[in-house]
Amino acid sequence: MNAEVRPPAMARPGATTHASKDNILLVDDDPGVIQMMGRMLRDVGNLRFATSGADALRQLCKAAPDLILLDAEMPGMSGFQLFDVLKADPALAEVPVIFVTSHTEPAFEAAGFDLGAADFIGKPVRASLLVARVKTQLRFKRMADQLRGFATVDSLTSLANRRCFDAALTREWKRARRSGESLSLLMIDVDHFKLFNDRYGHPAGDQCLRAVARAMAGATMRPADLVARVGGEEFAMLLPITPREGAEHMAHRVLDAVESLGVCHASSPTAGHVTVSVGISCYDDASACWIEPSADSRFASDMLVLCSEADMMKAADKAVYAAKHHGRAQAWLLDVADVETPALARVTAPVRARQRREARPEPAAVEP
Ligand code: GH3
Ligand code: MG
Ligand code: MG
Ligand code: MG
Repeated sequence: MNAEVRPPAMARPGATTHASKDNILLVDDDPGVIQMMGRMLRDVGNLRFATSGADALRQLCKAAPDLILLDAEMPGMSGFQLFDVLKADPALAEVPVIFVTSHTEPAFEAAGFDLGAADFIGKPVRASLLVARVKTQLRFKRMADQLRGFATVDSLTSLANRRCFDAALTREWKRARRSGESLSLLMIDVDHFKLFNDRYGHPAGDQCLRAVARAMAGATMRPADLVARVGGEEFAMLLPITPREGAEHMAHRVLDAVESLGVCHASSPTAGHVTVSVGISCYDDASACWIEPSADSRFASDMLVLCSEADMMKAADKAVYAAKHHGRAQAWLLDVADVETPALARVTAPVRARQRREARPEPAAVEP
C-alpha cells in the first residue's frame, strides 16, 4: 500500500460531529481502490459503494447521496457516461461529482469542469488531499442545499412558499391528467385579518399567521399533501389523489383546526376568534374535463385545452370569494370545469362536521 494512503490519524479531529452524516457514494471498478478510499473517508460521512456504472445507478435510484466520487475509467459504462446520465436527471443533477482519475492533464480537467464536475482527484489517491477536497465539496453542498431551501420556504411560517407551490401544482396537475388520478386544491384565507392587525398590531398578526400555519400543517396526514403560504394571509393546500369528498373532509378539518386555536379576534364580525374561509377546486371523475386513464393520448391532448392548472387556482379563488360572500368561516367548492360559471359553486358542510361545530361551545379565545 502506498504510504500516502494509510488510514490517516488526522482524519479523526475533523470527523463529522453532527448527528446526520453526509452520504457519499464511491464508484470504482477496482474493489481495492474502493476499500482504500473507504478507510480514508470512514470518519467523513456515511459511505456506500458501487463497482460499476449500472450498480451506481441502481443505488442512486433509491436515494441521492450528498457527494459522488467517480472513477473516470471503468469498463462498460465509463465514469463520464454515468456523469452524463446524472446531469440529465433533475433528482441527481445537483449532486456534486468528484472524478478520481489517472488523467490529470489541464485540458482534460478543464473540459470536465465545463461539463459540471465539482473537482478532480489524481490517482494514486493521497489521503490528506482526498479528505480535504471531500470536506470542501460537502461544505459547498450544505450551503447550496440551504440556499435552495431559502428559495422554497416561507420565512414567516416555514411552510412551502408560493414558488414551491406553483411548481408542485404544475407537476401534480400533469401527473393527474396523465395517470387518471384526482387532484384537489384548497385556498384558505384568514377572515378579517386587516381588522386583526388594526386591533392587536402587526407582530401579533404574524404570531397568528404562524399559529394558523401550524394548524393547517397538522391537519394534513399524507406525505404527498403540500401546505404553502401563497400570499399575506392566504394559504393553499394541494391534495394529490384526492377526490371532492376527501377535499371537503380536509376543508372542514382545516376550519375546525383554526377555530380550535381559539385566537381571540374581538373585532371580527364573524366570530369572537380567528376563522378562515376555504375555497375548494377539484378535478375528479365527476369533472366535465376528466380524462379516463384508458383514453388514448390524442384524445387526452385534445382534452387538455378544456382545463388547466391555472383553472384550478381560479376555481379555488372563486370558491373562496363565495365563502366570504356567504358569511365567512365556511368552505365552498367549485369544480375546475365550472371555473367560468361561479354560480355553480356550492357550500360544503359534511353533516357531522356541521353538527359538531354547532354543538360545540365558542372556543375559549386567547387574547394575543
Ligand atoms: P377578508 O375576510 O375579506 O379576507 O378580510 P381581510 O381583512 O383578511 O382581507 P384583506 O385582503 O382586506 O386584508 C388582508 C390583510 O392581511 C392586510 C394585511 O393587514 C394583512 N397581512 C398580509 N400579510 C401580512 C403579514 O405578513 N403579516 C401580518 N401581520 N399581516 C399581514
Ligand atoms: Mg477504473
Ligand atoms: Mg386575502
Ligand atoms: Mg383575509
